[in-house]
Amino acid sequence: METENRLNYINGEWVESVGREVFETKNPANGETLAKVQRGKAEDIDAAVKAARNAFESEGWQTFPPIDRGRILYKIAEELRNDAEEIAMLETLDTGKPLSQGRKDVEAAALYFEYYAGMADKIFGETIPVQPGILDYTLREPIGVTAHIVPWNYPLQILARSTAAALATGNTVVAKPAEDTPLTAIKLAELIDKSALPKGVFNLVTGYGSEAGAALSNHRDVDHITFTGSVQTGSAVMMGAAKNVKPVTLELGGKSPNIIFEDCDQTEAVDWVVRSIIQNAGQTCSAGSRLLVQHSIKEEFLRKVVEKMKAISIGKGVDDPDLGPILNEKQFLRIMEFMEVAQNEGANFLTGGKREQRAGLENGFFFQPTVIDNLDPKSYVAQEEIFAPVVAAFSFETEEQAIELANGTDYGLVTGIWTKDAARAHRVANRIRAGQVFINNYGAGGGVQMPFGGYKKSGFGREKGLEALRNYTILKNVALKY
Ligand code: NAD
Repeated sequence: METENRLNYINGEWVESVGREVFETKNPANGETLAKVQRGKAEDIDAAVKAARNAFESEGWQTFPPIDRGRILYKIAEELRNDAEEIAMLETLDTGKPLSQGRKDVEAAALYFEYYAGMADKIFGETIPVQPGILDYTLREPIGVTAHIVPWNYPLQILARSTAAALATGNTVVAKPAEDTPLTAIKLAELIDKSALPKGVFNLVTGYGSEAGAALSNHRDVDHITFTGSVQTGSAVMMGAAKNVKPVTLELGGKSPNIIFEDCDQTEAVDWVVRSIIQNAGQTCSAGSRLLVQHSIKEEFLRKVVEKMKAISIGKGVDDPDLGPILNEKQFLRIMEFMEVAQNEGANFLTGGKREQRAGLENGFFFQPTVIDNLDPKSYVAQEEIFAPVVAAFSFETEEQAIELANGTDYGLVTGIWTKDAARAHRVANRIRAGQVFINNYGAGGGVQMPFGGYKKSGFGREKGLEALRNYTILKNVALKY
């Protein structure tokens, strides 16, 4: 891949950052430089926000017939699909994920544009019976300039999920991809540049979180911030927004459990337990990182999980194995620290727990599929998000204990329930404190249609589905006396 400098996209133009500084994005599989991107800072964010503000206030985007907004988004979905193979490869090179997962990400991004394209002319208010002689109605208006701070685990998908919803509802966008994985965001900007989207409606600034990210989340002229990433950074983003009294949508990860009851279909459950922690090397906010198994089948079930984890193929994303490398050294060292703490906390490693050292993989940070048993459910490793292909197992006797364990962390993003007893499945689902509950499946195929978001420290506000449209609209009540 050529290492020419990639530019920021502001007001429909490809521009260098004001400071003319660049930094490198690397291939996690071998450490090679993929490209140089702009080190955007406050001045660049400021220019992007100004462009987005002008595009919002001018006769441009806001007054576009909604159906035409939808048509442009459909076109972007089509362009994503036209270039799907190239974009999937770019995502794989930049994130390290297996190519087939990169392909799924591109398709998911196209689906977001398609789904929200269809909504552009179906967002409406209500009439409210107040009293005779008053016609009272509500208008659901775009909120204005929206900021999108995107993490490195699903760079294209997560960018598409919030920006498609924001654009469909008539907002303008300033996006800041993660410093480690900016390439597919730049590619999306290229496709948007070729579309009929008016200048300044979509803007992209690459840069570090502490510089471009902080400047965006603290900007006075941003009307809404969507952030996905760590709890710590999410909290900082929220503080910046609080100073300017701006709303935020936060998606901050989890410690999601699969609850395995003794009457479940074990073959299916084992398969999904493994998939849910192996996908994207466990670097997934909704990863199934805790395994809660009914005591009577624990030994048998764990044996099957370990067998499957040992059979996982590990390699470079371009070779499309089951498991690719960890994003970078920082993330890798963080995982190693977790493993050390787990040892000290008395963990029993049923498999994995180490760097994968195989020949050919020396220059990437590959981590073995890992199953840990014997941790105290209140221990640090049992409570905190590791972001690795590491699942921690626990056992329960009763339904009540299963619920208590499942709800026993500060997070609440996703829960899987595995049982053939439908009444039990509903009883448990009702008491789970998580934004999404899956019964006898995990993820339902991704589902752009299903509202997604957290309870507790997993965040608030909902992405995906129609629910996400609330983030990007503001309600006005109008009362007319006649
Ligand atoms: P992070 O939260 O720091 O980064 C996410 C995004 O926020 C990036 O675009 C980054 O540039 C930006 N950012 C960083 N500091 C910022 C600031 N002060 N103001 C505004 N934006 C800022 O995540 P990380 O440090 O890359 O990863 C650390 C841990 O976070 C991971 O191990 C994982 O546990 C968690 N994480 C969760 C998700 C998720 O999908 N929920 C995604 C990535 C990371």
